[in-house]
Amino acid sequence: LLLNPDALLVKEYAALGQPFVYAVPCTPLKTESRLIQLNDELAKKIGLSSDYLRTNEGISILTGQTPWPDYNSIASVYCGHQFGVFVPQLGDGRAIIISEIRKGADYKQLQLKGAGPTPFSRRADGRAVLRSSIREYVASEALHALGIPTTRALSLTSTPDPVFRETTEMAAVVCRVSETFLRFGHVEYFSHTNHHQELLELLGWHIERHHSDLYSDNFEENPVPTLLDWFKWLSQATAKLMAQWQSVGFCHGVMNTDNMSLMGLTIDYGPYGFLDKFDIDHICNHSDTNRRYSYRNQPRIGHWNLYALASALMPLVQSERESLQLILDEFPQQFQTEHNALFALKMGLDLSRPEENKTEFIEYTLQMLHENKLDMTRFFRSLSALDSTNLAAIHAPSGDDTQSNWINEQFGLWQKSSTFPWSLGDESQVESARTWLKKWSAVADQETTGEKLNQINPIGIARNHLLQEAIAACEKGDDQPLNRLMRAVSQPYTEHSDLGDLYQAAPDWAEHLEISCSS
Ligand code: AMP
Ligand code: MG
Repeated sequence: LLLNPDALLVKEYAALGQPFVYAVPCTPLKTESRLIQLNDELAKKIGLSSDYLRTNEGISILTGQTPWPDYNSIASVYCGHQFGVFVPQLGDGRAIIISEIRKGADYKQLQLKGAGPTPFSRRADGRAVLRSSIREYVASEALHALGIPTTRALSLTSTPDPVFRETTEMAAVVCRVSETFLRFGHVEYFSHTNHHQELLELLGWHIERHHSDLYSDNFEENPVPTLLDWFKWLSQATAKLMAQWQSVGFCHGVMNTDNMSLMGLTIDYGPYGFLDKFDIDHICNHSDTNRRYSYRNQPRIGHWNLYALASALMPLVQSERESLQLILDEFPQQFQTEHNALFALKMGLDLSRPEENKTEFIEYTLQMLHENKLDMTRFFRSLSALDSTNLAAIHAPSGDDTQSNWINEQFGLWQKSSTFPWSLGDESQVESARTWLKKWSAVADQETTGEKLNQINPIGIARNHLLQEAIAACEKGDDQPLNRLMRAVSQPYTEHSDLGDLYQAAPDWAEHLEISCSS
């Protein structure tokens, strides 16, 4: 009933047993659950019957009320560096894997977040509140739709059961889906507790399953080459992930090593945020007073986290300290290359130009966005209104007139864009816009079209104030605003005519929204 005929329940991770995974039952909530979101597309993709999941029995499984038939749910132990400080034991404190499904080569784990305490809950309640569960559900699907690697969300259920945070809130459970929930912190745990044999076993299992191209049959006798190749892969994947986050203004908020995926996925959505007005120093978590996880710092922290992972790997690759160092040293350049490539596409730059030339223009643009406090999403989206044909003519030696006519014409086109980000009443803004256009004309690609730009610059973003409105409505039982937001973010490049209000810049009140870690 649950699974489509082409999908199988498997126990590949569960079979590892202790000390990797511990059998933990979910703790049912007291009140009947309400299914708020079900991801039909994802259900189908992994081989689940969404018709069944909508029935009372299905909902009961998605909240942890009823165990998955023939599967003993599990939780795992890890540790990590939180805000730079080593914490020797963490773990799945409120996340329980309820099944593993294999459909051909596609392998997925299903995990309930908020389904009760585990041996790793550290005196916390094992629950999640509706507010943070909505935020996780929306962002997972938003990033996925933006083409950014992430864990995904299958369902969101809630009950009126009280959960005590700064105030009393409603309980909720998100069922999330991923090929793995392993984190840097898992490696750190087995390394720092001196369980090196176990660490090797876990990594062998992981690499064989997810990187069969890197795995070799003599891994047990000679694991070092495979481990180095794998670390290199992960370092590159993390560099790319950081560039992708930066390109859409996504701030994770809590980039502790226990929130960094071994598959280079975005994982553990807490006090994240998408930039509204471009602010390079933006932090989305108000308890991050040192700005450790600011927008600007994310790539640097990704690199720092890889250092923590590398030192955890040291006992396994002892003689190869230098090789690890070389891989780490490549990270900044890899990040820069990915970052430039993405921003060059976002602005329709001529890709054949020298790298320094692109870097310079991208940095200038970001600085300009910061100084003018422009809405990031709307700025990039509005570029599709510009016309890059005839660029050659304006650089002809004929003089300033042609150029200033071109700028006037482009400015006219730009103003017509529904996402025009500049304030026309502000002379210095108009001047900045004209200067930007002039510089853009020197580096833009004549082949760029508005249509192409609209496929890389999203319009439907999970802005904080929209989440806030969706949460407030959901808490009163009205799912309409959440449904609309989901429609906007799951097709982020399509401008839906009836969702115009969701594409506006954030209202002033949103600037003061504070998102806390407690969730
Ligand atoms: P985070 O920084 O939100 O990813 O959480 C850090 C650690 O605290 C993880 O090991 C979580 O499993 C655990 N944790 C957070 N909230 C709870 C909770 N309400 N109950 C149990 N464990 C929790
Ligand atoms: Mg976490």
